[in-house]
Amino acid sequence: SNASHELKTPLTIISGFLETISLKRFKNETQLFYFIDIIEKEVNRLKKLVYDLLSLATLENTYMQINRIEELSTKKIILNLQKIFSELILEKNLKVTWNYEDKEIFINFKKEWLEIIIQNIFENSIKYTPEYGAIDVKIYIENFKMIVVISDTGIGIAKENQNKIFERFYREDLSHSKAIEGTGLGLSIVKHMLDLVQGEIYLESEINIGSKFIVEIPISSIKNI
Ligand code: ADP
Repeated sequence: SNASHELKTPLTIISGFLETISLKRFKNETQLFYFIDIIEKEVNRLKKLVYDLLSLATLENTYMQINRIEELSTKKIILNLQKIFSELILEKNLKVTWNYEDKEIFINFKKEWLEIIIQNIFENSIKYTPEYGAIDVKIYIENFKMIVVISDTGIGIAKENQNKIFERFYREDLSHSKAIEGTGLGLSIVKHMLDLVQGEIYLESEINIGSKFIVEIPISSIKNI
C-alpha cells in the first residue's frame, strides 16, 4: 500500500499538469515551460521509484548467494565514486577526503552489489550534507572483511529513528530532509543486499553534527597482501 501511494502521487501530478496543458490553461510560454519542468521532475521520480522497487523485488527472490568469484580493486571503487559524483560534490562545494588501502580482493557475489551499496550511502552523504560540508571516505581490509566508513557533517539522524532508516519508504520527517529528493528505498536495498552477503552496517549519528555509516563485507581472499 505504501508503494501504490508513492506511485500514485507523481502520476496524479503528471496527469493533472498534462490536462492543464492540453486544455491550454497556461498564461504564457514561461508558465508552459514551468509546467513541463514539473512533469519532467515527476517522471524522473517515478523512474527512480520503479527502478528501486524492481531492485527490491529481485533481491526478495534471491535467497541464495550466487556462487561466483569476482575480483575487484579498492582503488577502482574510489575512482568510480569520484567519477560519478564529482559534479554533485562541486555543485555543493563539499570537501571530500579519500583514504584507502590499495588492494585487489575477491568476493563471492556480484561486484555490482558492492558498488550499489557504497554508492547509495555516499550519495546520501552528499544529499544530506549542506553546502561547504565535509565527507570522509575510508576503505580498508581487516580480518577478511572489507570495511567502508563514510562520514559526513550533514543534518544527522535522530537517535530514535536510526533503526527506521533501513525500512522501506522511511524518510526522516525533518522539513529539510523532506525537501531533498528521494524514494526512501535506497537504504532498504543496501540492508537487503548486505543481509544476502552476510555483511553488516552500523550507524553513528547526531542531529546537526553528522552521520557515520560503517559497512563490513566479507571477502573471500586478498590478491596482494
Ligand atoms: P532516500 O531516498 O530518502 O535518501 P534512503 O533509504 O537512502 O532514502 O534513506 C532513508 C532516510 O534516511 C533518508 O530519507 C534520510 O532521512 C535518512 N538519511 C540517510 N542517510 C543520511 C545521512 N547521511 N544524513 C542524514 N540523514 C540520512
